[in-house]
Amino acid sequence: MASHTNNKRKITPDLIEQFYDLFSPCRLCPRECRVERKKGELGNCRAGQKLKVASYHQHFGEEPPLVGKFGSGTIFFSHCNLHCVFCQNYEISQLGQGRTISTEELAQYMLNLQTLGCHNINLVTPTPWIPQIVEALSIAQTQGLHIPIVYNCGGYESVSTLKLLEGIIDIYMPDIKYSDDRNAEKYSKVQNYWSVVKSALKEMYRQVGNLKCRHGIAESGLLIRHLVLPNSLAGTRDCFKFIAEELSKDTVVNVMAQYYPTFNAYKYPEINRRIKLQEYREALNILKEFGLDSGFQQTIDTIYRKIIPEWGEWS
Ligand code: SF4
Repeated sequence: MASHTNNKRKITPDLIEQFYDLFSPCRLCPRECRVERKKGELGNCRAGQKLKVASYHQHFGEEPPLVGKFGSGTIFFSHCNLHCVFCQNYEISQLGQGRTISTEELAQYMLNLQTLGCHNINLVTPTPWIPQIVEALSIAQTQGLHIPIVYNCGGYESVSTLKLLEGIIDIYMPDIKYSDDRNAEKYSKVQNYWSVVKSALKEMYRQVGNLKCRHGIAESGLLIRHLVLPNSLAGTRDCFKFIAEELSKDTVVNVMAQYYPTFNAYKYPEINRRIKLQEYREALNILKEFGLDSGFQQTIDTIYRKIIPEWGEWS
């Protein structure tokens, strides 16, 4: 049973300082590069000293409980601590596309998104920039930011950093990408992904529990994404087994079908194609087998019928 707390935590200067302490030498994520980012040194993610953001906008392509009527207030951060060879946002995550901005500007982006009516602030790939994000949140919150904060990440997170985020993040939206470390190493250039993601997801769940919605809009909780890869390379069965047995059968899981070979995927013949309808169906069957098929899942099914037209109608 989760002992999550939903109390908002006040972001004090002391707390911000604790995040900046993790920034240099950098131990923000499990890679623990220990580079002096304050002096401009670059670690594995190639994120430097100055905050970089690629874009911010109302996003209508996220999960329905995040999008609602007015969209998810999405902010795309440059760089990533994973290096997925099939990344759909590789210009931003791998090539570091983006603009250097101040924490005051970031706070203003958040307030602008709230003014547009967005239902949340959706931080995409926030991990290398957590101190600046928390600082910006403290500025924005004193100016009236009140909508939920979504932490949208690849699942390769440090439990000690997550613990510091307790009470700041309302909705965690991590990926669970692989259950086999060899595949994680081959396709995302990371070691120990499986043990790291399991610990990270347990901590997220401890903090926020299952997804809670009001009038169909997410307010808090955990929402997990799983991208089905060709040839069962995501290890779907073990991922869902872990979620059902070690988190909760009521966990909301978005089984994503939109994989397509982009960036460097062409170098790996086994992932150089879209998934087949049968592979997606198989993933949904496993989801059902573990009792994870919440009502929300049905909505997701419907969406994918639209985005992969070559699959045609379900029979
Ligand atoms: S955030 Fe970047 S620099 Fe810091 S530990 Fe992780 S990969 Fe290394």
